[in-house]
Amino acid sequence: MKRTAGQDRSITTKWRPATQAIRGGTWRSEMGETSEALFLTSGYTYDSAATVAARFAGEDDGMTYSRLQNPTVQMMEERIALLEGAEACRAQASGMAAMTTALLCQLSAGDHVVAAKAAFGSCRWLVDNLLPRFGIQGTTIDASDKAAWEAAIRPNTKVFFFESPANPTMDVVDLEFVCSLAKKHGIVTVVDNAFATSALQRPMDFGADVVAYSATKMMDGQGRVLAGAVCGSADFINNVLLPFQRNTGPNCAPFNAWVVLKGLETLDLRIHRQSESALKVATFLEKRVPRLLYPFLPSHPQHELAKKQMKAGGPIFSFDLDGGRPQAHGLLDALELIDISNNIGDSRSLMCHPASSTHHGVGPETRADMGVGEGMLRLNVGLEDPDDLIEDLDQALTKVGL
Ligand SMILES: *Cc1c(COP(=O)(O)O)cnc(C)c1O
Repeated sequence: MKRTAGQDRSITTKWRPATQAIRGGTWRSEMGETSEALFLTSGYTYDSAATVAARFAGEDDGMTYSRLQNPTVQMMEERIALLEGAEACRAQASGMAAMTTALLCQLSAGDHVVAAKAAFGSCRWLVDNLLPRFGIQGTTIDASDKAAWEAAIRPNTKVFFFESPANPTMDVVDLEFVCSLAKKHGIVTVVDNAFATSALQRPMDFGADVVAYSATKMMDGQGRVLAGAVCGSADFINNVLLPFQRNTGPNCAPFNAWVVLKGLETLDLRIHRQSESALKVATFLEKRVPRLLYPFLPSHPQHELAKKQMKAGGPIFSFDLDGGRPQAHGLLDALELIDISNNIGDSRSLMCHPASSTHHGVGPETRADMGVGEGMLRLNVGLEDPDDLIEDLDQALTKVGL
């Protein structure tokens, strides 16, 4: 393997994000390939028994087994770490593998977690159902309420866990406030940054300790693979997360890492174009529906905060219809171009009804607590011409009497 400039942190950390996204972390084999090589291998061979011993003793930094190291996966990890401004990153099998690993690697029985009540359904399930089974208690709060964060802290609070903007309520959390409160109390902040990605928002710039990702969303960006990542300090990744990951194995497959590497090359371009289109579509839709939530529209209750910590609003927004589930399902069924799909971050525009899909599993009480109503719909704005999306929404709204 030949190390390129992309492997030299004294060079890559000086590059701007668009350059890091293309060249960061690149290794080249003796073939000199331009695009990153895909190493579909589970194991590695050695020249001698002494080499094996040296590698397992940590005296030689070669590869030993793909649960521990894989060149393609390491290229993805280095690229994401650079973009995030993090010392280190470990790729994961999916976004949920990333969230579970980021929490379980550092929590023990008797610890306490404060989490935002508005969250991706499975993230909420971890806090409400999985952690308590291992003696880890959670308190869920309105994350836009500063006093609620402070009031929820207990002597055994170890982690703050939240996403911003939140899925699907589009609540924005004040990163600077929450991260500095955590620091004051020795609490680790774990931020799920799937909606914005480092291209729009870098939580570590505001003091976050750990940033966890579903790379399935904007990083792949074309709806192909499941993948995830956890970023943090070298100490956290190597000494807290790695012992957990190496022995439990929630690893990202090399093929999926390679697809994410290709996606990262165009992340900046895509997310800015999709954000521009989302703003245009949301501006149209806002006049036709009772309530619409998009952080970069002045009508969003935290518009100023969103502008302070994000470069653009991202591709996703949600809106509410007064006609409940029948009208929401009616609108979905009337769409001709936009697909009915619960995925996000895709280059295709996709719409879903969270109460009967992504947030079905948390149950009606938790949905009411989070503000996910029966009339709520979530739209991921893709890379199509926004005028075609507006025309499709226009005809579908007319069919349901709006
Ligand atoms: C999709 C998503 C996840 C889960 O990611 P997967 O890759 O589907 O496992 C977690 N958090 C948020 C905010 C998401 O949108």
